[in-house]
Amino acid sequence: MGTRGRSIVGMDVDVLIEKLNKAFADEWLAYYQYWMGAKVAKGPMREGLVAELLQHATDELRHAGLVADRIIQLGGTPLLEPKNWYEMTNCGYEVPDDPYVEVLIDQNIKGEQCAIDVYQELANLTREADPVTYEIVLQILTDEVEHEEDLQALAEDIQLMKERG
Ligand code: FE
Ligand code: FE
Ligand code: MG
Repeated sequence: MGTRGRSIVGMDVDVLIEKLNKAFADEWLAYYQYWMGAKVAKGPMREGLVAELLQHATDELRHAGLVADRIIQLGGTPLLEPKNWYEMTNCGYEVPDDPYVEVLIDQNIKGEQCAIDVYQELANLTREADPVTYEIVLQILTDEVEHEEDLQALAEDIQLMKERG
């Protein structure tokens, strides 16, 4: 922990660490959901979807790393056990028990929309109070917005293919 770095934060640091740990849980679950979805996916345009899912999985794991580093800088401890992910998550985990591409895409769109809300809230909370966290949150939010659009564009392509052959 950097003591000066922590002392300049203009809000309750323990509350912030708790919120970052909840986002950290979301990132691991999002990573696993994408990674597993890429393994089991079946249906039209599977290869394009699998490539997108794997790219997103990589991004979510990178987000988990960014959030963990910031928690540690603030003097906190990132969740140490996977079982804590389920207890702390905002966005939950959608089991990919139906491997059909459109179902997977819908599940992941839901996850991205939740992530956008979580990081928008964190951005509002930290914009003035903690510009260092704000900068990290903004990077992640930008990725989540891109993820949502990627998935909605894929869903649209699959829909067009089905309508127009
Ligand atoms: Fe993420
Ligand atoms: Fe994402
Ligand atoms: Mg993408």
